[in-house]
Amino acid sequence: MDSEFFRAWLAKAAAVIEEQRDHLTQLDAAIGDADHGINLNRGFTAILDALEQASTPTAGSVLTLAGSTLISKVGGASGPLYGMAFRSAGKTLKDIAQASPQDVSAALDAALAGVQKLGAAKEGEKTMVDALAPAVGAFSEALANGRPERDAFEVLAAAAAGGAQATISMQALKGRASYLGPRSVGHEDPGAASTALILAALRDTALAQEPGP
Ligand code: ADP
Ligand code: MG
Repeated sequence: MDSEFFRAWLAKAAAVIEEQRDHLTQLDAAIGDADHGINLNRGFTAILDALEQASTPTAGSVLTLAGSTLISKVGGASGPLYGMAFRSAGKTLKDIAQASPQDVSAALDAALAGVQKLGAAKEGEKTMVDALAPAVGAFSEALANGRPERDAFEVLAAAAAGGAQATISMQALKGRASYLGPRSVGHEDPGAASTALILAALRDTALAQEPGP
C-alpha cells in the first residue's frame, strides 16, 4: 500500500464523514456538545486541502500531514486525539514506499498507543478507544492467523463497528460525556462511531485495490 492508497483512504473517509456529519453531531448532542460531526468534517476537509497543496510522496508523509492538520484545524478533544493517531501511524510507516499489511498493523498499533498516551482512556470508558482497540487487535490477530489481507481489513472494520455499538451500554468515564455520569448510558459514543466510519473507509479502500499478482 503506497502513498496513493493512503490518500484514497483519507478521501473516502472525508466523504463518509461529510455524509454522516449530522448523524455524528446528533450522537454528540445526546451526550456532549453537538459538534463532533462538524469538527471532523472541518478537519477532513482541511486534510484534503493540505494534501492537495503539499507533496506527500510516502505513506508516512500522507498520514503525518493528516495528523498535523487535524491538530491545527480541529478544536475539542477529538482533533488532538485523531491528530495524534494519524501522526503516530505516519511516524511508524516512515519512508516505506509500499506498506505491507504487517506495516499497517504496526501503524494501527501506534495510532492506538498515541490516542491512549494523550487521552489516557482504557477500553470500557466509552471513547474512540472502544472502537479502535478491538479493531487494531482483530487486524493483527487475523494476520497472525494467516488470513488473507482482504479478510483482515473486513475483520478490522467489523470489530470497530462492534466496538462502537458496545459503547451504547457503557457509562462515559472520559471526556465531556463523563460529566453526565450514569445518564451517558444508552447512547453510542460519537468518537467511537466516527472511528468505525474511518476504519470502514480503510476497508473499502483496501477492497477496491487491484488484487495482487
Ligand atoms: P469535544 O468532546 O471536545 O466536544 P468532540 O465532540 O469532537 O470533542 O469529540 C468527542 C469524542 O472524543 C468522544 O465521543 C470520545 O470518543 C472522544 N474522547 C474524548 N475524550 C477522550 C479521551 N480522553 N480519550 C479518547 N477519546 C476521547
Ligand atoms: Mg463535542
